[in-house]
Amino acid sequence: MLGPTELTESVLRFVEDNWSLDLTLAQWWCCLAEAGLAFPTWPVGVGGRGVSATEARSIRVALDAAGTIAAPAGNGPNMGGPTLIEHATPEQIERFVLPMARGEAQWCQLFSEPGAGSDLAGLSTRAVCDGEEFVVSGQKVWNSKADVSEWGMLLCRTDPGVPKHAGITFMMIDLRQPGVEVRPIVQMNGASEFSEVFLTDARVPYENVIGSVGGGWDVARTTLRHERAASAAVTNGSILVEAGSIAGNLDRQVGDLIEEWSAAGGARRRQPPLLGARSMVELARSRGALAEAALRDRLVRFHIHSELYLLNGRRTRDLARAGVPTALDGSLLKLDLAALAHESRDLSYDILGPAAMLTGGSAPDGGKVATTGLSAFIPSLGGGTNEIQRNIVSERTLGLPREPAVDADVPFRDVRRTT
Ligand SMILES: Cc1cc2nc3c(=O)[nH]c(=O)nc-3n(C[C@H](O)[C@H](O)[C@H](O)COP(=O)(O)OP(=O)(O)OC[C@H]3O[C@@H](n4cnc5c(N)ncnc54)[C@H](O)[C@@H]3O)c2cc1C
Repeated sequence: MLGPTELTESVLRFVEDNWSLDLTLAQWWCCLAEAGLAFPTWPVGVGGRGVSATEARSIRVALDAAGTIAAPAGNGPNMGGPTLIEHATPEQIERFVLPMARGEAQWCQLFSEPGAGSDLAGLSTRAVCDGEEFVVSGQKVWNSKADVSEWGMLLCRTDPGVPKHAGITFMMIDLRQPGVEVRPIVQMNGASEFSEVFLTDARVPYENVIGSVGGGWDVARTTLRHERAASAAVTNGSILVEAGSIAGNLDRQVGDLIEEWSAAGGARRRQPPLLGARSMVELARSRGALAEAALRDRLVRFHIHSELYLLNGRRTRDLARAGVPTALDGSLLKLDLAALAHESRDLSYDILGPAAMLTGGSAPDGGKVATTGLSAFIPSLGGGTNEIQRNIVSERTLGLPREPAVDADVPFRDVRRTT
C-alpha cells in the first residue's frame, strides 16, 4: 500500500504521461479505466485496483487537482457497478461493467413506479418468459438520466403467484429498442433530470438477468444500500461530463469539453440541493447581512453543521471500509443531508429576502438561490424518503420492532392495490 504522498505522486506521473487536451473523451476514460484509476475501489480489470476508500479519495483529489476530467458519474458508477460486482457472473461483469467504467454506456435505475415508490416491492411491471427472452410491459417513473442512458437496471415482476418480495427479478434492459419510450419530466426548478419510461412488449434476453429469476429483491437491496451512500456522499469540484454514446461527448476532445464546462461556470450534472457554507457567507456579505446578529448566528450554525456533515461522511466511509461496526450509516447521513439542504434553503431565502423569489436576469444573484432552494427537497425524497430512512434506522440500527406488513405473505396477485 502506498502512503498518501507516494500515491499522489504516482497519480501525477500518470497524468503527465497520459493526459493531453487533444485526447478524445473516450480515449481518456479508457486510459483511466485501464490504469485502475476510474473507480479505484473496484477490482482490477473493470476500472479499479481494489484499494481502500481513503486511497480512492486521494486518487480522485489528485486527478481533480491536475485539472483532468473526472471518471464517469451517475447511477451506473454509484450503484449499478457495485451491484453487478457483487451479484453478476464474471461474463456479465465484463459485458456490462467494463463499458460503463470506460464511459461508453450510461445506465439508469428503473425501479420506481407510479404505484411503487417507498413500497418498492409492490411494483407491477410484468416480465413474461418467451423462449430465451422476457417480454416486459409496465411503467417506470422518476428515472434519473433515462433520456441519455443506453441501459436500464430494471426491477420487474416475474411471478405474481408468490408474495411480493419473492417474485421480483433484476435485469439489464437495452433502452435502444422499439418497446421503450422515454419521456423527460420538467421539474419545478426548471431542470429536467429524470423521465418516465413506458415499456410495451420490450425484450430482455435471459442472459441479462442479474442473480436468479425471482431473486431480484436481494440484488435490489444491494443497489439501494449503495444509493443511500451515494445520495449522502459529498460532491466536490470535479469536472463532470455526461457519459455514453447518446450524450454525444465520447468523440469530442477533452480540451473542448473543459472549455465548455468552464464557460458554463463549472455547471454540474444535477442542480445542487444546497449552497455550501462559503457561498452562503459570500451571499450574506454581498447583501450586507453580516451586520445582522441573528443571521450571523445562523450562518455560524450552518457552517458548523456543514463541517460536521462532511466529517461524519468521511468517518462513516472509512469505518465501513475497515469493517468497524458503527451506528452511523448511509440512512443517517442522508437524513442529515436533507436537514442541511432545508437549513440552506431557509437561510439563503432569509438573507435575500423577497428577491429570493426571482429567477433569471431580474434576480440579484442570477436566480441561483431560488433554483437551489427549489431543489432542497431532493435529498429528502430521492433514494428513499426521510420517513423510510427513519424506518431503516429504527429497525436495522436500533433493533426496534418492524413495521406491520399485512401483505408480506400474500401472493402478489391477491394483494389489494389502487393502481
Ligand atoms: C431527485 C430524485 C431522483 C430519483 N431518481 C430515481 C431513479 O433514478 N430511479 C428510480 O427508480 N426512482 C428514482 N426516484 C424516485 C424515488 O426513489 C421515490 O420518489 C421515493 O422512493 C419515494 O417514492 P414515491 O415518490 O412514490 O413516494 P410515496 O412512496 O408515495 O410516499 C409518499 C409519502 O408517504 C410516506 N410514506 C410512504 N410509506 C411510508 C411508510 N411505510 N412509513 C412512513 N411514511 C411513509 C413517504 O415518506 C412520503 O412522504 C427519484 C426521486 C427523486 C426525488
